[in-house]
Amino acid sequence: MAGIDIEGLATVYPNGVRAVDGLDLHVADGEFFALLGPSGCGKTTLLRTIAGLEPATEGTVRIDAADVTRTEPGKRGVAMVFQDYALFPHMNVSENITYPLKVRRVAMATRTATAERTAGELSLQGLLERKPAQLSGGQQQRVALARAIASQGKVLLLDEPLSNLDARLRLEARTFLKKLQRDLGITTVFVTHDQAEALALADRIAVMESGKLRQLGSPREVFARPANTFVANFIGSTPMNLLPGTVAAATGEVGAVSVAGGSLPATTVSVPADAEVTVGIRPEYLTVASGDVTGPALRGVVVVAENLGTQSLVTVDCDGTLVGVTVPEETEPSPGTAVVLTAPASRVLLYDRDSGELLARQPTPVAS
Ligand code: ATP
Repeated sequence: MAGIDIEGLATVYPNGVRAVDGLDLHVADGEFFALLGPSGCGKTTLLRTIAGLEPATEGTVRIDAADVTRTEPGKRGVAMVFQDYALFPHMNVSENITYPLKVRRVAMATRTATAERTAGELSLQGLLERKPAQLSGGQQQRVALARAIASQGKVLLLDEPLSNLDARLRLEARTFLKKLQRDLGITTVFVTHDQAEALALADRIAVMESGKLRQLGSPREVFARPANTFVANFIGSTPMNLLPGTVAAATGEVGAVSVAGGSLPATTVSVPADAEVTVGIRPEYLTVASGDVTGPALRGVVVVAENLGTQSLVTVDCDGTLVGVTVPEETEPSPGTAVVLTAPASRVLLYDRDSGELLARQPTPVAS
């Protein structure tokens, strides 16, 4: 088992693109770590640079404390699973799984035993004689994982491991992968552009934009307290409301911030009065008030409600600004209804209007 240390890492392609642009990261021993970001942010390049498939232009990569920055891929102790699985079509499952061992000239009997054991761990028993074309997408994905695990690398690198699976299989494979990683305890870095997948699987997530790190934290931290409006926009299955606002009172710990349609309570300590801010509030943390409200609140008129299954996303027009709020199923107010929205101050985030960085500092709210 091994940790990964990345210091001042930059990967510049020959055409001048700085795909990874000065990154510092520590992945702990045994951690399940996600590289998350929109297409083109450099996450695949970062993974490939850790693997040694792209040369680092600047900085260092250490695996298990050894500097591997200039070490060839085969000698870094990494096992990688590619997005398209890269299985050998002419080899059967058993041969595919044990190919890395064959390259290392491991004895046949050991290879056969490894194939059987790994196939068992990945629920591939009975498929060892089949060729990849005779397998489902989920089975092919597990063969690719089995091959990586059988190679006994110190770290496992996964490039969009679930993206080729259909929605249902993807959920099953996600659960399977999480359990497998727990059981093996192998340090794992995986790339995904799917925020829900990163939140569900990872111990920690690095959110990237344009080759740079925008936030590093646990799924709870990046969901509940995005460090900037980029992360706020990117994380969450319903988009966070980001509303222009002005700090109305900065007298005590909890003040208020005025936004179109009214105001919201907010922790305004360290934020000057009258500061122009962007107010972040997740639809899940807003509530449609049922009785009279005396404190800060937003007033508006329901425009539309969208069914999300056990919840509905209700869009409310607050003085021309659209605000999303989720409500439990079958409680959606109908379009045209006047509503009052409230939120706890601990869930209202204030961002610098210009830089988009989080302003108010407070601990991550604990799960309720
Ligand atoms: P995706 O999710 O679409 O795969 P990504 O976040 O993994 O995106 P990368 O594939 O790492 O992003 O690409 C980062 C940047 O580097 C992009 O601007 C891309 O166009 C560029 N890039 C990637 N590969 C090369 C290459 N071989 N030569 C030049 N530029 C490249």
